[in-house]
Amino acid sequence: MKLKNNKDSHKAGIYIHIPFCRKKCGYCDFYSITNLNIVDKFSNSIKKEIKIYNQLYNTFLFDTIYFGGGTPSLLEIKVIEKILNCLYKNFKIDTNTEITFEVNPEDIIEKKDLINNLKKLGINRISFGMQSLQKRHLNFLNRFNNIEKIKFALEKVLKYIINVNVDIIHSIPGMNLKDISNTLKYLIKLNIPHISSYSLIYEEETPLFLKIEQKKVKPLDSDEEYEQYNFIKEILESNNYIHYEISNFAKKGYESKHNLKYWNFQNYLGLGPSSHSMMNLVRWNNYRNIIKYNILLNNNRLPIENEYKLSKSHIETELIYLGLRSSGVDVQKIKYYTGINFKEKYRKSIELLTKNGFAKLFKNKFKLTKEGFFLADEIMVRYF
Ligand code: SF4
Repeated sequence: MKLKNNKDSHKAGIYIHIPFCRKKCGYCDFYSITNLNIVDKFSNSIKKEIKIYNQLYNTFLFDTIYFGGGTPSLLEIKVIEKILNCLYKNFKIDTNTEITFEVNPEDIIEKKDLINNLKKLGINRISFGMQSLQKRHLNFLNRFNNIEKIKFALEKVLKYIINVNVDIIHSIPGMNLKDISNTLKYLIKLNIPHISSYSLIYEEETPLFLKIEQKKVKPLDSDEEYEQYNFIKEILESNNYIHYEISNFAKKGYESKHNLKYWNFQNYLGLGPSSHSMMNLVRWNNYRNIIKYNILLNNNRLPIENEYKLSKSHIETELIYLGLRSSGVDVQKIKYYTGINFKEKYRKSIELLTKNGFAKLFKNKFKLTKEGFFLADEIMVRYF
């Protein structure tokens, strides 16, 4: 197979982890701290990290940049500008780069010119943390809960930037189909081009996980979860959204270019504490500790905790896993990277899954059906 994206092998995305939040939401295990006094130190460190990588990756063309977190919208605009300037100075950045910025509604309300200023800096995609339009769910998640203000903030974003993603969470205890329908009706009416819909996960060491252990909270059972997942899928698909990844729906042409890099096994460089990278078939992750991150960079050392070259067996597992969760397992890609004939090696699993309606086999793709998609993680563990 001639790799279609031979040129793309020198393309990459950049992820920047902004590790600050106003307060911690009860369910979240992303790395962030609430001490904003060290934003300046962090901003200096990230610039150092960029400069070190300039020597390693100055031949790459970067065509997506993603500010995630944490809460990027907490940063002062001048800090964001400095980071972006540093990126432009040290890397080759494509002229049509998709630049995504995660925002929380509180920041849009408090900083009146935030979105306008972000747009002036070249940010062309916003990811809006809404999660739900029911006060009781937002209270449960320990999030900002003023529904009118959340709506106001989202509508304000849309006045400046069209390419918007909204994050929603389903399967929250006490949530019902009517709640979901209300939220989706509102988003569809606004013609939001991209919706990420996640099932509530009970991550270890979060306050919510502790409540489960203490039996103070009862999660929805898997039938209810499936019903909600399916309900969302049906509503969005009947409104012309493409279900292009297990948790992601987009109107045609609005798929997230940056996230597609993760799912299509392409290069991306992660910056900031706890970020992950994959460049030239090497994976690594940074320390999940901002103090350590700052100290190492202050000594001109990269803040890498673990690093490993992907073996053929890692690549095989990753290509299957990523494919099952998105547009299907790419049989030729697996052959190209590993030499393995996927159809032969997994003949029995493929037959069983297709016979039971969980998957379909095409010429070059093995794709999960609606029923299979919901069980993708379990299918991966049991059959591949
Ligand atoms: S969900 Fe977002 S705002 Fe809440 S703690 Fe996690 S990163 Fe911060």
